[in-house]
Parts: sequence; C-alpha cells; structure tokens
Amino acid sequence: MKFGGSCLAGSLHRVAGVIKEESGNKILVLSALPGVTDILHDMAKSWSGEEIPVLEEVHVKCAKESITDENVRKKTIRELRGKIALLGKTLEHGKSAKGGEYVIAFGERLSVKILEGVLLSVGLNAVSFDADDLGVITSGGFGNSESLLEKTGDNLRTLLPLIKEGKIPIITGYFGRDENGVTTTFGRGGSDYSATAIAYALDAETVEIWKDVNGFMSADPKIVKDATPLERLSYEEASELAYFGAKVLHPRAIEPAMRKNIPITIKDIGEPENPGTVIDGSSTSDGLIKSISLKRGLAIVKLCSLGMAYRPTYAMAFNTLSPMGINVYAISTSQANFAMVIHEEEANRAAGALKNAVEVEKIDVMKGVGMVCVVGSGMGSRVGVAASVFDVVREAGINVEMISEGASDAALNFVIKRGFEESAVKALHDALIRGGLDGR
Ligand code: ASP
Ligand code: MG
Repeated sequence: MKFGGSCLAGSLHRVAGVIKEESGNKILVLSALPGVTDILHDMAKSWSGEEIPVLEEVHVKCAKESITDENVRKKTIRELRGKIALLGKTLEHGKSAKGGEYVIAFGERLSVKILEGVLLSVGLNAVSFDADDLGVITSGGFGNSESLLEKTGDNLRTLLPLIKEGKIPIITGYFGRDENGVTTTFGRGGSDYSATAIAYALDAETVEIWKDVNGFMSADPKIVKDATPLERLSYEEASELAYFGAKVLHPRAIEPAMRKNIPITIKDIGEPENPGTVIDGSSTSDGLIKSISLKRGLAIVKLCSLGMAYRPTYAMAFNTLSPMGINVYAISTSQANFAMVIHEEEANRAAGALKNAVEVEKIDVMKGVGMVCVVGSGMGSRVGVAASVFDVVREAGINVEMISEGASDAALNFVIKRGFEESAVKALHDALIRGGLDGR
C-alpha cells in the first residue's frame, strides 16, 4: 500500500484507518508530507538555514495531531528533531558531502517515522526503513533513476521473516541508492514507482496506490466537467495516459508491475469505499476509447535539409539530445525534414546544440503547442478510428501540426497549438467517449 503526500495532509488517521482495514500481509510505502519535497528542492539549490525551523514545525505538528499514544508521540518528536538537526548539519558542511539528492529525499525519511508512531499507537507492529539503507538499488543518474529490480529483490527479501512475524514494514518512497551507495531519486512523484518496484522485488499479490483522486478519469475533470472515473485500464492504456499528461500516476510506475503481472489499484483516500481504477493485464471491453489526455507546454523542433533522410541525421540528433537529458515525445520524418516534439523549456537549448552537432540548412522551433492523446486498447487495429478522431478535430476547426500513430495499439496522439487544446479535448470526449465511437 502506497500513500501519496496528498493523503498525509492534516492528521494521518484516514491512512491508519485504511491500513487497519486491510487484513493481509502488507508493506507500506510513503511519500513526504505535502509541500515538503518542494521546500527541500529549494534548500538543495540555495540554503539559508531558515527552512530548518519550518520543516520542524510541519513535522512536529503532524506528529502531535496524528500520534495518540503520549510516550510514542514524545519519542517520535525527539527522533524527528534529531533527524532534522542532522539535515541542517549536512547542509552546513556543504551538501556535496552527501550529494543534492540526499537532501531532496529527506521528506520521506521524516514521514515514515510519523506513520510508524501512528501505527504503534493503535497497536500495529510497524517498523520504518529508509530505502537506501534497506537496499532499494537504483541505476544512478540524478532525478531520473530506474530501479534495478532483481538486485532490489535480493536485498528486500530480508523483510520476509519480519512480515511473517506480523510486522508491518514502512519504506520511504522516492529514492534508493545506486551501486556506489549514492542516494538517487526516481524523479518527482517517484514514490508510485518505488511502490511497484518493491512489489516486483517481493512478488506482491497486488499494489494499492492511495491518492486524493478517484483514480484515472475519461479526461481531466478540470477541462471536461462530465469526465467519468475509469474502473479498469490495461497496463498499456495506463502507461500511455501517464506518459502523455495524466497526472494520476508516475509515468514509469506501471513497468515493474506489468513485468510480473501484478495488478495496481488506484484508490481515493477521501472515498475508500469507491472501487478506484484497477490496472492489470486483461484487455478491457467497455468502449474502445477510454480516455483523452493532454500534455501541455511542448514545442516542435524541426531540422530541414534536402535529402537529409539519406544521411545519418536522425542518429546524430538523438545522440545530441540524449546526453542532455532531453526526452523526445514524438517524431515525424520526410526526406528533407525531421520534426521532434520536446518540452518547450528545453527547445532553445536543444536547437542550439543541434545547430552545432548536425549539418542542416535550417532549424525551426515552434513553441506553444500541446499533445492530445486518445487512448484505448485495440484502436490501432480497428478501421476508422483515426478518421473518427480527425473528423472531430476538423469539425472543431482545429489545425493538426503533427501526428503520431501506429507505434502503440492503444494510443494515437497529435500536436495542436495552445489555445485550441481544451476545446479539442472537450470535443473528442463529447463525440468519442460520451457518444461512443460507433454512435457517431
Ligand atoms: N515526495 C516526492 C515528490 O513530491 C515523491 C512523491 O511524492 O512521490 O515528488
Ligand atoms: Mg508528492
């Protein structure tokens, strides 16, 4: 069971409640308290010392409100103060002693202590662990590590005898250590990924990911008022949605679960009786198109040069962008043009580097675009889906700047200008999800 920061707002009684309800053997994975990782990110950049009392106040307040047993509460608060003082010392000595990621990963080291106190108070035999000490092994690379799943599994098996004795391990999400012992994180929102990596490592039967939203929806409810919750998704559908803009889940969290066919359920802490969204290997039947997502803030970077397709231009472009940590979301090619979709804020940096590395006549940058992604398993092999999608876009009077289709059987996506993004999502949702693909 993984609990996100949004579940940890106020007191932890709701979290303790759903943990108590769950009778099976379990491992808990926790994010930092809400807002704490943001503070730590700022501290890692520039440290003034003023943040230490803020962190102390946030955590001590949460412990006071959440831990009912007085002795446990006092002990936990002492431990929290000790850990926060240690963080201050590390920063005073220059964070390079431990690396910046050691600092930004600190919120989870504190939140697990509070939950441990809460559960001990209600008679549950909880014991907290820091993922780097425990041996969640990462590939290294700051802010975008992967988990080395087999190595993590070898280390985490030490937990099994504890669980048999009835103990409940609570593990910090978000980070682990690389093979040199350096703490590295899985990127923002990475505790989801920690949870599925740990589930893989220990062959869990199922993973529950607790949030403050009712799972995946048929569209972002901020854009589409009548968007509906989705009770089932395949692994592929959920990964495409998470990759192309749905903020419900860390985009890589599906992978470890999918490799061992472990179902993931997204649950809402505010409404625990709701079924949430179940993500598993079964293909889902209710309607072909499940959801429309939107990824904003993108740019198209286009290399232009006659006959470019006959030279190793694409290879050179990727070899330039990859070491810069720039992800390419879609490509489109012709004999004289090579267009790539990347994050808008990386566009100038990318274009500059490409100009030096690749011989082309011209590089165009179109900022201010977004990517709409239509998701549903099986759509790639059904006649007329693309026609239906682009009919809707045409009726809405929207020009399509670029299209990516056919790579996944579960997703079709296209790029349009900002300003048209929300109307495209609304029109597609109305026609293809509310109306149904066949109802058009
Ligand atoms: N605390 C980290 C973050 O805010 C990890 C997580 O919440 O999953 O990004
Ligand atoms: Mg978080």
